[in-house]
Amino acid sequence: MKIIDTHAHLDEILDIDSALVRAYQSGVRAVMAPGVDGKSSKKNFELSQRQQDGWPKIYVAVGMHPSQANENDLNDCIAFISHQAMSIKAVGEIGLDFWYPWVKKSEEKKELQRYVFKRQLELARQLDFPVIIHSRGAWQECLETVLAIGNQKVLFHWYSGPVDIFKKILDKGFFVSATPALSYSAHAKEAIEQAPLEQLLIETDSPVVFKRLKEDGMGEEFRAEPKDVFVTLEAVSFLKKKEKQIVLQKVNENAKYFFNLDLEEIR
Ligand SMILES: [Zn+2]
Repeated sequence: MKIIDTHAHLDEILDIDSALVRAYQSGVRAVMAPGVDGKSSKKNFELSQRQQDGWPKIYVAVGMHPSQANENDLNDCIAFISHQAMSIKAVGEIGLDFWYPWVKKSEEKKELQRYVFKRQLELARQLDFPVIIHSRGAWQECLETVLAIGNQKVLFHWYSGPVDIFKKILDKGFFVSATPALSYSAHAKEAIEQAPLEQLLIETDSPVVFKRLKEDGMGEEFRAEPKDVFVTLEAVSFLKKKEKQIVLQKVNENAKYFFNLDLEEIR
């Protein structure tokens, strides 16, 4: 099975070279690596320039995550997107995150996030790039902002908010992604249940820590790397009651369409 991990922070993975080899050996043929600021975006970009045989193909998205919102770095990030427009595939990971009380209570912090988010959405629209959205704690506002700016290809990555907003996202024809959390989180299941396969991507959000059941029935935590995208595939297949091969073909097709990937190995 040949698969694409559509969201892995490769720059944050320790010993990335061996993780990429393991991914390839498991069947991962492409990875989309989003940035969280200028520095991480450049690190991913450099890694993609080091592309080697026996690694999945590395694609890069450049962006500033709401938790890293900073006006000076934003200009750097935007300049990088413009300069490397030919070599990157998306703007991301961008969005709003009002999850933590110290952000929720601070109008100033929220305003900065909004400013950073909007400038990147506008740039993405001008350059006709898809956008990868982080929307935790600000689901409704993220959706409204994207609609106001008019971006066409929009991915709500690892959605964890209310189902009614999720339905609106799907109604607009936007994409959503599932992570390994789908194998145990009732919240994730409730959302992804609503998502038609036609609008679904699968990912790992590596190196985030997820849970899994061991053979003895006990739970354990593991730090995700791109090869664990198969955990997500398995969970989608189980939830949707569809064969893995069928799910895989659809999510691969979706990923290629969404990010405009020219990937001959995966048809
Ligand atoms: Zn992420």
